[in-house]
Amino acid sequence: MKLPIYMDNHATTPVDPRALEAMLPYLTQTFGNAASRTHVFGREAAAAVEKARKQIARLINADPKEIVFTSGATESDNLAIKGVAWMHRQECNPGNHIVTQPTEHKAVLDSCGRLEKEGFEVSYVPVGTDGLVNPDELGRALSERTILVSVMAANNEIGVLQPIREIGELCRERGVLFHSDAVQAVGKVPIDVQAMNIDLMSITAHKIYGPKGVGALYVRHKKPEVHLAPLIDGGGHELGMRSGTLNVAGIVGLGKACELSMQEMMEESRRLRALRDCLKHGILSRLEGVHINGSMERRLPQNLNLSFDGVEGEALMTCLDGIAVSSGAACRSMASESSYVLRALGTGEDRAQSSIRFGLGRFNTQEEVDYVIGRVVEAVKSLREFALLCPERQ
Ligand code: PLP
Repeated sequence: MKLPIYMDNHATTPVDPRALEAMLPYLTQTFGNAASRTHVFGREAAAAVEKARKQIARLINADPKEIVFTSGATESDNLAIKGVAWMHRQECNPGNHIVTQPTEHKAVLDSCGRLEKEGFEVSYVPVGTDGLVNPDELGRALSERTILVSVMAANNEIGVLQPIREIGELCRERGVLFHSDAVQAVGKVPIDVQAMNIDLMSITAHKIYGPKGVGALYVRHKKPEVHLAPLIDGGGHELGMRSGTLNVAGIVGLGKACELSMQEMMEESRRLRALRDCLKHGILSRLEGVHINGSMERRLPQNLNLSFDGVEGEALMTCLDGIAVSSGAACRSMASESSYVLRALGTGEDRAQSSIRFGLGRFNTQEEVDYVIGRVVEAVKSLREFALLCPERQ
């Protein structure tokens, strides 16, 4: 076994060597601009992009025409939310109300925040102590002014799986568009935009063993046809929804990553669930005062999020040198502020401050899990002993 051990796969994943192999020719020999259809270089690049569109669409049961390439899920979330809101305003359609929930990624929350400053209204439906939105409560937040609901498929800190199918059904019945940030769920658990009545869905390559800086937005074409105002003006690429020269190699990597996930999802989930359960049992059976954050029943197989009584998450991470885990989302891992996701569950500040997120991935092994269990148990015990000996240093 080699150190360091990477167990922070919700922050990002390494590129699968098979995805890298598929990408490489598009950086060197087949480097054409996919919009240059007048010569073979451009046509080959365009063909590779269309192949990737099909690979992505197949994974989520969409039509390839419904896939819009972006620079990643931050952009996809912005395009979905602001695109719907601005199009509404542009067409002078009635309604200015958006419904979301407080444990969304910042890309969703801050897009909504921006729209609030522009005069849109946003409702935040609270989550329960398990981290889940209650669809009935969400239904009560909808009004005739509601234009969009945005609820993530899987949370990036606690891995809980929101009741997307129920929310999709509700939105369809009420004639409201439904966006889901499915970054952490796509390729990990089955997602079907038809069966789940999803109208817009954000995807990113770097959470599914593809490269960073490339993602996609699923935009429903039929029943209903979704219209978006673009965020970026320019050459009118991606049916006018996202101008800019396509990142062909990145897109090929995303397509290949989706194809691999589709083939391997079931087996990989089974293996990672067993590893995650082993990690959970190994820690919980050897330590008192450990709490699981979020529902264990409705959760990604790859995720475990624990709080340790009397231990600061940051201090624990320092003791775990050589093991990459995190105390929350990557985008706020430099901030000392505790997790807003855990605070939204009502865990209390102490538990939010003492949390560690374990994100298992394709390349983790049983040996690594056994090693991590030993190190976590040892580190928590010594931090607690130190706190008893030197209470003034806490
Ligand atoms: N949404 C969720 C749930 C995420 O976990 C992330 C990544 O951290 C993003 C959006 C942003 O994705 P990207 O890094 O592709 O912009």
